[in-house]
Amino acid sequence: MIRRLYPYGKKKAFSVTYDDGVLQDVRFVELLNQYGLKGTFNLNSALMESEFAWTHETGLVVKRLRADVVKGLYAGHEVASHTLNHPYMHDLSWEGVMWELSQDKRNLEALFETEVKGFAVPFDYYSDMIEACVQECGFAYGRISEMSHSFCPQKDYYRWKATVFHCEACLEELTAQFLETDEELAVFQIVGHSYDLDTENMWERMEAIFQTVSSREDILPMTTIEMIEYLKAMEQAEITDGYIQNHSDRSLWFAVNDVVYEVKPNEKVLL
Ligand SMILES: [Zn+2]
Repeated sequence: MIRRLYPYGKKKAFSVTYDDGVLQDVRFVELLNQYGLKGTFNLNSALMESEFAWTHETGLVVKRLRADVVKGLYAGHEVASHTLNHPYMHDLSWEGVMWELSQDKRNLEALFETEVKGFAVPFDYYSDMIEACVQECGFAYGRISEMSHSFCPQKDYYRWKATVFHCEACLEELTAQFLETDEELAVFQIVGHSYDLDTENMWERMEAIFQTVSSREDILPMTTIEMIEYLKAMEQAEITDGYIQNHSDRSLWFAVNDVVYEVKPNEKVLL
């Protein structure tokens, strides 16, 4: 029996994807780093520039991080685009959406000196036109605001759904189910904004989840792009009873009758 695995022979992947690049990300990234976990941070470069702030209904002033702070902060994590200005996109033309996406991508790439491959939609409006713009701008995926509430890896990378929004009551229940699931290539991805951890008083709950997940040998922390690039490479693999052919430029892992195999880039392994 052949089972597909994540890198290093891990059965499951864990990830967080947090939006807006706010002040509370400093504490949040510290927590991720403390537990050896990985996140994707979706940023609006124009709001970073203007140090945009707004007042939450609880009275908390939500502040954006400055460009000179974010560069060091997110080292080791993924930075993705969340548009230039965080607009309500249903008002925008094709040209308007293209500007918001492409200019944010360019700004973030210049700031972080790396290719920005991911996009996460602001608010909750997404359409075929926006999806086409995400592809046209050269992003590898578009994360939408809908949740999957499932551990099954998503197949539509331009309508990628995280598993759960962190303020949902089912957060701990889903975490417990993820630890138990035997789903092949299981994914658990939490989405949110780190200021919610202040306003909802959730830091301890989140730390408890991080502690549990990081203590498990069968779970690999991954960023969204790491997960998606791996899943895409896995899709191209030929898996037969007689051999496994890796057609990608990265190693792929499998368990064949419970023996773990690393199949190197473009390698064919006879079974
Ligand atoms: Zn946002």
